[in-house]
Amino acid sequence: MPKERKLGPKGTPFFATPTTFEKAYPDIEEIEITVESMDKKITTKEPEVSYHWRLAGRELSDLPAYVSCGNPLCNEGGFGIQKIVDSVYPERLTEGEGAITCRGHEHMGRWQQRACLRGASYKIRAQYKSSQTST
Ligand SMILES: [Zn+2]
Repeated sequence: MPKERKLGPKGTPFFATPTTFEKAYPDIEEIEITVESMDKKITTKEPEVSYHWRLAGRELSDLPAYVSCGNPLCNEGGFGIQKIVDSVYPERLTEGEGAITCRGHEHMGRWQQRACLRGASYKIRAQYKSSQTST
């Protein structure tokens, strides 16, 4: 019998449980995130949607868990901002960048659907409360 592997369901919103950004990331003092979506199918140079936040202190709770991928056909999609924060937070990195993909899907017909192909590149800069006091 193969061991049952428990993997969390993909695309579950991190903030679905009643929590706040401050509780999820208590060490973050200030954060700056840039997200620019790109359509992989068309490979245009221009980002279809772009987001930029620079938040500190109480403003951090304004950060959305998900933002729209910009695909009008997309269902239940979006780019997970939490993923971006998680890319730097565990190791308290002050900068990071990478790529994320949309978690949504497109309806192709009555019974068919396919994954949304939108992807986005991101950059993040973070300042941590603990890093200010430690030397
Ligand atoms: Zn999408």
